Amino acid sequence: DQLTSQDAMDLENKYGAHNYHPLPVVLSKGDGVYVWDVEGKKYYDFLSAYSAVNQGHCHPKIVGAMVDQAKQLTLTSRAFYNDMLGKFEKYASEFFHFDKLLPMNTGAEAVETALKICRKWAYEVKGIDENEAEIIVCQNNFHGRTTTIISFSNDPVARKNFGPYTNGFIKIEYDNLQALQHTLENNKNVAGFLVEPIQGEAGVYVPSEDYLSKAKALCEKHNVLFIADEVQTGIARTGRLLATCGNCNCENKNCSGTPEVKPDILILGKALSGGAYPVSAVLANNPIMNVIKPGNHGSTFGGNPVAAAVAMAALDVVKDENLAQKAFDLGNLFRAELNKYIETTELVSLVRGKGLLNAIVINDDEDSETAWNICMALRDNGLLAKPTHGNIIRFAPPLVMTEQELLDCVQIIISTLKQFE
Ligand code: PMP
Repeated sequence: DQLTSQDAMDLENKYGAHNYHPLPVVLSKGDGVYVWDVEGKKYYDFLSAYSAVNQGHCHPKIVGAMVDQAKQLTLTSRAFYNDMLGKFEKYASEFFHFDKLLPMNTGAEAVETALKICRKWAYEVKGIDENEAEIIVCQNNFHGRTTTIISFSNDPVARKNFGPYTNGFIKIEYDNLQALQHTLENNKNVAGFLVEPIQGEAGVYVPSEDYLSKAKALCEKHNVLFIADEVQTGIARTGRLLATCGNCNCENKNCSGTPEVKPDILILGKALSGGAYPVSAVLANNPIMNVIKPGNHGSTFGGNPVAAAVAMAALDVVKDENLAQKAFDLGNLFRAELNKYIETTELVSLVRGKGLLNAIVINDDEDSETAWNICMALRDNGLLAKPTHGNIIRFAPPLVMTEQELLDCVQIIISTLKQFE
């Protein structure tokens, strides 16, 4: 039986742990840039499951690959080889220009994996004493919610009462090269620098244009691994195949001018599967990845044949539909249109972002309800978005939108904002 929205929310609230505070809308269908609630109301999805559904909901090629593979073989664990994993590892390694890939399921798992690889590399290659390695991270980072990852989070809600925390992290200001340089020069046991190319959860903070390339150069100078967490920014979201874009085979010529950076370790998740299935991965070249030996790391589901088939199809779609270019062009249009409106109002101070990862800042206290209320009104007007922090609303639609659909969304957003002036 089809439940009403209220029934479905009541069930979740009664039987589910309250570890989220969802917008009150219950979705039961998706297609491309659209989702439908159980009463049949249609919405533009302007969040894409936090940038996972870049290729659009239920993309037929991705769903087709998933269903075909599910009929053949779903899981072997890594006790045996399966005939899909090697193909995926080759495909994705070549796609992103790395020697090797380690498959996982979620973003946080892939981050944990990268931290382990980095530490083992530090002990084996740099000769840092065991238990002494330090990894530099940034203020206001978001890399997931495992016990180690929250150990270096700033978010009091994610951290408080979950200690004791994992040691071995030094936190510095984001987008501050001097802080990085100072930390590298004054700590002899630094193994890596973990960074989001754009801080997504923090509120879509875009660093200075040369921050990443200069940070990478500093890391190289100190023989420290540059670890890019592209779980949210990767897979064409920011108008390039990767926000770091080092040697990626992105066809987008318009984004030249932004320095390219090749991370030592690249972390992908979310849209690596187009949101169809949990797939994440860590990529690195042989001198780094080869520190991992049998038994060091793994997951029952990581690298399963369905994940492999889905991820290959999801990357095919990114390439075939030129999604990096699309995100680049639509993103420019989106910010240009919103900026015209922002000039006329006191309500919104700015729109920032790259490609189709954007946010607006509402001129109100961080703890006011305005952003939430705006998202409720957007919902009523047929567009789903969610505040990241207090007064910041993130906009990250699927990249498969047409220009007309994007302009339609801009109209919905502006007319909704006008209700709050
Ligand atoms: N890293 C970044 C940059 C993210 O944005 C997220 C999720 N928002 C994660 C890691 C964690 O991914 P997951 O929720 O799949 O564990």
